[in-house]
Amino acid sequence: MRLIIMGPPGAGKGTQAKFIAEHFKIPAISTGDIFRANVSEGTELGLEAKRFMDAGEYVPDEVTNLMVRNRIDEPDAVNGFLLDGYPRTLAQVEELDGMIRFTGHQLDAVVCLTVDQEEIVGRLLQRAQVEGRADDTEDVIRRRQEIYLEQTEPLIDVYSKRGIVVEVDGMGDVDDVTQRVFAALDVLPES
Ligand code: ADP
Repeated sequence: MRLIIMGPPGAGKGTQAKFIAEHFKIPAISTGDIFRANVSEGTELGLEAKRFMDAGEYVPDEVTNLMVRNRIDEPDAVNGFLLDGYPRTLAQVEELDGMIRFTGHQLDAVVCLTVDQEEIVGRLLQRAQVEGRADDTEDVIRRRQEIYLEQTEPLIDVYSKRGIVVEVDGMGDVDDVTQRVFAALDVLPES
């Protein structure tokens, strides 16, 4: 199973990604998490990514692509994976196509979480207090939303044309959203 979860910043991708990945017994690969881990470990990659992340900008494609390529080459991802936060640009879509083609597999579905942008700003500001993420200030959140609309939302069209987009209403309780995701993917929920 090779899946992507998409949606604007704060849509709840990471939360839902965990449940989906558990169900299919595949790793949930979050580029944001990998970048944050590198930042806190002070690696070269982390140092490079940090200045972009702090500004709400995307990390350059070459850096991100290489990181994802290395991650999906790891043994736990041979039978599939769920990508959270990748691809985010058209160049990344092409790169991912190449990576998957190389393995002789295909992308099964792209789960798109739809949310109300304004409500999301509140959600993210709340998360800022709980998790203390450096990029969860209101200015940076709005910048991330802007870039999402500009660079990432158009990818939904690209995948829609391939007939693999599954749209899910991402508003409401976490559990309800999970049920909707499973229903949309046509699988029975875990009890
Ligand atoms: P969000 O809550 O905005 O979805 P993420 O945790 O997915 O945040 O990502 C945090 C930051 O990491 C992004 O704002 C960006 O700087 C960087 N990042 C994550 N994934 C990518 C990607 N695919 N391409 C470029 N930059 C990325």
